[in-house]
Amino acid sequence: MRYLIISDIHANAVALETVLEAAAVQGFDEVWCLGDIVGYGPDPNECVEKVRDVATVVLAGNHDWAALGKLDVNDFNPEARQAVEWTQEQLTDESRAYLLQLPPRVDAVAELFTLAHGSPRHPIWEYILYPSTASENFEHFETPFCLVGHTHQAVLFRRDPVDGAVQALMPALEYPLPLHRAAEQGVRLIINPGSVGQPRDGDPRASFAIYDAAQGVFTYYRVSYHIEETQERMRAVGLPERLITRLEYGW
Ligand code: ZN
Repeated sequence: MRYLIISDIHANAVALETVLEAAAVQGFDEVWCLGDIVGYGPDPNECVEKVRDVATVVLAGNHDWAALGKLDVNDFNPEARQAVEWTQEQLTDESRAYLLQLPPRVDAVAELFTLAHGSPRHPIWEYILYPSTASENFEHFETPFCLVGHTHQAVLFRRDPVDGAVQALMPALEYPLPLHRAAEQGVRLIINPGSVGQPRDGDPRASFAIYDAAQGVFTYYRVSYHIEETQERMRAVGLPERLITRLEYGW
């Protein structure tokens, strides 16, 4: 089985379609989505429908909860809040019903993985940006590996089996990481596949990853999408300018 792993789509249907096409070239059997299907972007219902159609394991993120009114929007910055309020007005009853039943964490997926939107400790809110935060989170899941999103940064946190030290590693693109060998050696990882619809690691291309269970490898990919098309759709519906321009910088 080959699993396509996507996260933080943020209602960017152009990016999502491009990722699904690029991943189809590589080949995949199932899709796992780590949350934040909506928020920021212009196509919330289209993205919910697409994820519902293609994904087998889907998490809720903080923006999904905000769009459902399950989180206080005063905790968001002004532009994000404006996007949340716009998204709330757009969501169909069907989209709301789908988002409402999503969990923020699922354990023991394909045996080796725990899936959480932000972190295993605080699945909705916590950002794992640094090795220190990652280090504390290894106690909060049982499987060798945890997949997280939320920061919109493609990164791996590796816990050493001997001394327990945690380091952040920048993933090499299109390089198959030997995941099963790592598990055999007692290495544990918190893995962020990056963001489909609003990358924040300086690379504006859409990010995704594929786990090949037969080969025991995990591979990161980036793909360029038509950013201007998403930006035009955002302008047409009056979303904040800062959210529009940030897409081309990848921040
Ligand atoms: Zn997000």
